[in-house]
Amino acid sequence: MATDLKRKIEAFSQELSPKLVEIRRHIHRNPELSYREYETMAYISKILSEHHIPYKKGVADTGVVALIEGEPGGKVVAIRADIDALPIEEKNDVSYKSKNPGVMHACGHDLHATVALGAAINLNHFKKSFKGTVKIIFQPGEEKNPGGASLMVKAGVLENPKVDMIFGLHSDSRFQVGEIGYRYGAAMAEPDEIAIKIKGKGGHGAAPHLTVDPVVIAAEVILALQKIASRMIDPTENIVVTIGKIEGGQTTNVIPDEVNMLGTVRTLNPELTPKIPGMIEQILKGITSAYGGDYELNYDFGYPVVMNDDQANDILIEAGKEFLGSENVKEIPMPSMGGEDFSFYLQKVKGTFYRLGTANPEKGTTGYWHSSHYDINEDALPVGAGFMAYLALKALEKL
Ligand SMILES: [Zn+2]
Ligand SMILES: [Zn+2]
Repeated sequence: MATDLKRKIEAFSQELSPKLVEIRRHIHRNPELSYREYETMAYISKILSEHHIPYKKGVADTGVVALIEGEPGGKVVAIRADIDALPIEEKNDVSYKSKNPGVMHACGHDLHATVALGAAINLNHFKKSFKGTVKIIFQPGEEKNPGGASLMVKAGVLENPKVDMIFGLHSDSRFQVGEIGYRYGAAMAEPDEIAIKIKGKGGHGAAPHLTVDPVVIAAEVILALQKIASRMIDPTENIVVTIGKIEGGQTTNVIPDEVNMLGTVRTLNPELTPKIPGMIEQILKGITSAYGGDYELNYDFGYPVVMNDDQANDILIEAGKEFLGSENVKEIPMPSMGGEDFSFYLQKVKGTFYRLGTANPEKGTTGYWHSSHYDINEDALPVGAGFMAYLALKALEKL
């Protein structure tokens, strides 16, 4: 690609910077929960209209898909941003603090939407300079099952025109502004959810022999579940089993009838996942029957493993070195046990999910995702928008 175009994209993105900050702050101030992103959809549509970028809204109810057509011929590259917020009360004392009580952009999706809009404005501005098409997907519901991405795929966003490669990003305060992170292969886990009910027979706390105590059974079950990771699966695999909630009983001297538990199971190996419910079942069956109790298990498979494509990563790294400098393109040292519904696109089309640095210790923007103090460094907005546009063009050139 002409270095001239690279410089033009950089300069144009810096020029856009105040506008990008305004967009990000508007979205941040008006967060909406998963699958209820109606105002966010309207706002994204308004910005696209202002720039005469064609789009379709209401895709999977609250999604938006924009299309930028360069010169005829060429391939189709997609850029994806998620737009939903979380049920968290914002504790940041900033002018753009959330106006919606108990709802907050604490995962950086306000940045993702802004970067995608900035990339769209960029690509639209330079559409005479490239051949091919870029589809920009703004999807709902990344934070909540079944995952907005799965609904967008069902709605046909990867077709008409058919997408050849897709890129998605996530804010990441482990990287500085101007840096990106990449990872080959399995990058993020499949996050499954489990609900367990231990059924016993309640009674007097002073006469446990006349009861089947589900609290004691639950205690043994929780410990035994840890053995899935430590004793039942190859130790070189990545797996975590966590019980996050346990509930049962009312008071000191009453043995309850049942105990309920909720938890998560995460793996990085798609072949391993289907085997886990059987292992949990085996533990539940063995322990509850030993004490005369019973159980119910609900196992919900979550988003698939994020499996990045090698060719897409090669393109990402090449674009990153050219646009940001070699020293700013970093390998993510470990895969994440977090989940991400971007994997639904990756099941259908080649692509990669990368990290955009958003840290700035001086500005205090280093908080961890999903925290009530999470914030991003807005200097990442023009960098992210320019780089995403450049990356799309690089992919069009390479494919
Ligand atoms: Zn999140
Ligand atoms: Zn997120």
